[in-house]
Amino acid sequence: MKTVICPGSFDPVTKGHMDIIERASKLFDRVIVAVLVNAQKNPSFTIDERIQLLKETTGHLENVEIDTFDGLLVDYAKLKGACAVVKGLRAVTDFEYEFQMSMINKKLCPEIETIFLNTSQEYMYLSSSVVKQIASAGGDISKFVPAEIRDKIVDRLVNI
Ligand code: ADP
Repeated sequence: MKTVICPGSFDPVTKGHMDIIERASKLFDRVIVAVLVNAQKNPSFTIDERIQLLKETTGHLENVEIDTFDGLLVDYAKLKGACAVVKGLRAVTDFEYEFQMSMINKKLCPEIETIFLNTSQEYMYLSSSVVKQIASAGGDISKFVPAEIRDKIVDRLVNI
């Protein structure tokens, strides 16, 4: 059984994230979407809120689980019995950082691979921060986030 980890902040989950998660779920037996506890970023949604939103949007995917982790990604991947980390690549701007991280992770733990899935063209511009900016300014985010969580995101961001 091939298990992979899709790590990220998911603050909040977008259609760009969902595209990567859905494609990974077709390629692998088990996908663990892992919400990273990252003290450096200044998140808008708590870990529990992000997990809840992910659970709502991935409920239809039987081989996808939602979890959270702190510490080194490769340690977490080993703990879960994963063979690889799956990451989405939007544009060249993502590449340099992701490439460096994948090389470091390979040094730390050679048996865990990093697999990159290219963004689908319609989501290349999409990030959680763009969604937050648009929603906070009263814009329509329907095109950017799964329909079932749109209102929750808007309510939450407008009531900060
Ligand atoms: P963000 O940069 O939006 O805060 P995250 O840290 O939550 O993203 O990213 C989690 C993973 O999802 C990363 O591998 C990231 O590259 C990927 N990802 C995010 N948005 C997209 C997108 N629009 N298309 C493809 N991959 C994406």
